[in-house]
Amino acid sequence: MRIVLLGAPGSGKGTQAQRLASKYGVPQVSSGDLLRDAVARSTALGLKAKAAMEAGELVSDDIVLALIRERLKRADARDGFVLDGFPRNIAQAETLRAMLAQIDQPVDAVVLMDIDPAVLIRRLTGRRSCSRCGRLFNIYTSPPTAATPCIDGRQAHELVQRPDDNEETIRNRLEVYAAQTRPLIEHYRAGKLLRSVDAEGEIEEVSRRLQQVLGDIPTVRVPKRVASRRVARRRAPTRRKPATRPVKSAKKKPGSGAAARRRAVRGARPASKHRSRRRSSARR
Ligand code: AMP
Repeated sequence: MRIVLLGAPGSGKGTQAQRLASKYGVPQVSSGDLLRDAVARSTALGLKAKAAMEAGELVSDDIVLALIRERLKRADARDGFVLDGFPRNIAQAETLRAMLAQIDQPVDAVVLMDIDPAVLIRRLTGRRSCSRCGRLFNIYTSPPTAATPCIDGRQAHELVQRPDDNEETIRNRLEVYAAQTRPLIEHYRAGKLLRSVDAEGEIEEVSRRLQQVLGDIPTVRVPKRVASRRVARRRAPTRRKPATRPVKSAKKKPGSGAAARRRAVRGARPASKHRSRRRSSARR
């Protein structure tokens, strides 16, 4: 399953990507998480990305693409992934398409998380995540409960708020979404990859809708090139490999056997069927 979740900040991409990923056993690949991790580790890419992220602007394509390319190469992404927050503009979408075409593993579907923009501000200002288990919550709509314990089974999560989830940055991120990311809806619709779910309502309900919309997609894909190689191998006539080692029935050189050695000791002439046949016909 190779899918992209597309939608405005706060549309629930992260929460639903986590759920889809654990249901289908594929990784959630979030460009925002990869960038935040790079910033936290102060890597060269992270240091370059930091200012744009704090302002709610898009980080430059080369930085994001370097992180995504490296992430999709890892073994756990071989059977699929849920992309969350990537691509975010047409150039990224085109690079992703080319990257996946090279390994013959195109995206199966792009799902638009459709939501009324008025809901987004409340969703984003209430958003928190647990710094220990990574689970996402919303203090207004989906706070931690007994049903969502932390990794060690304890109920208490360490909730933190993202620095860019303040109202001013949120407004900028929504504008950036409208200008640069929303055109992807038409792009993927034209490419016949777009599906859409109503992203408003309870998390469980949205999850159910998503699974319905993705119901026809195989969870593990066999890349076309491998599949055709398999078919070709099955259809190919069985041809014997030429023997590389001398086989037992190989003819011995004349005069090299035990009988020849005995004749040599006796001073006898070598035995030959042809010679004796020739001799007998001459006699006739
Ligand atoms: P997110 O967690 O997806 O909301 O992303 C947080 C921030 O990371 C965004 O506001 C951007 O600054 C940056 N970012 C995440 N994904 C991308 C991307 N695909 N292209 C450019 N910038 C991104």
